[in-house]
Amino acid sequence: MWRSRVVLAALASLSLTVGVAQADEAGGSGAAAPAAGAVAAGASRGVGLPPVVSHVPTGEKVVFITIDDGWVHDPAVARTLVDRRIPASLFLLPGATSYDTRYFTDLAAQGRVSVENHTVNHPDLTTLDAAGKDAEVCGAGEQLAASFGKEPKLLRPPFGAVNDDVRLAAKACGVKALITWTYDFTTWGETPPTPRLAAGDIVLLHFTPTLGADLQRALDAAKAAGLKPAALMPHLKSAGLVP
Ligand SMILES: [Zn+2]
Repeated sequence: MWRSRVVLAALASLSLTVGVAQADEAGGSGAAAPAAGAVAAGASRGVGLPPVVSHVPTGEKVVFITIDDGWVHDPAVARTLVDRRIPASLFLLPGATSYDTRYFTDLAAQGRVSVENHTVNHPDLTTLDAAGKDAEVCGAGEQLAASFGKEPKLLRPPFGAVNDDVRLAAKACGVKALITWTYDFTTWGETPPTPRLAAGDIVLLHFTPTLGADLQRALDAAKAAGLKPAALMPHLKSAGLVP
């Protein structure tokens, strides 16, 4: 089954012209997305593949909030996301949602969040063969579609690890763009320095015990820069990154 999907994606790639890899490292401080150089190098070869996006070119005063994994389900965070109508993209692991799917289905129903793909087991996709990539990406997409009634269109590759083979596998699974990040606001042991956000930046957060505080720092940084959280997909489309 995976063979036909990959072959179809490869054939489709030949006839498409869209395929911009974004490798913006503007800002410099804080935790910038990894492998930007590799992504830029892949752009010319990756015509027709879904783009890798770490920053969205836009003239609008917007910033993108993304939250990964899904292990810790803090009710206060859910209230903040719903009450403040924050259009966050949630890149969820099916296993992290399955013991309390309701936390996320309620968020999706009541708030403005979208549920997106983060693989099944959080591997470095560049280390897997084609069948492994297919199982991780298509498998997670199918599980999330079953739980949330909607096929995810965006993939966050675990660790931001991407190459053209990962992009091809993602395309075969219906992924329209691979989303990395501009800055990681997650408190991993210690709180990272708060960068000055710019329009189009992608903020990375995680469902950890510090998410409430990390999200607040991100919202404060956005406000300080005059930026509003916005939904990713419409801006990926208006930037021409997704058809
Ligand atoms: Zn993750």
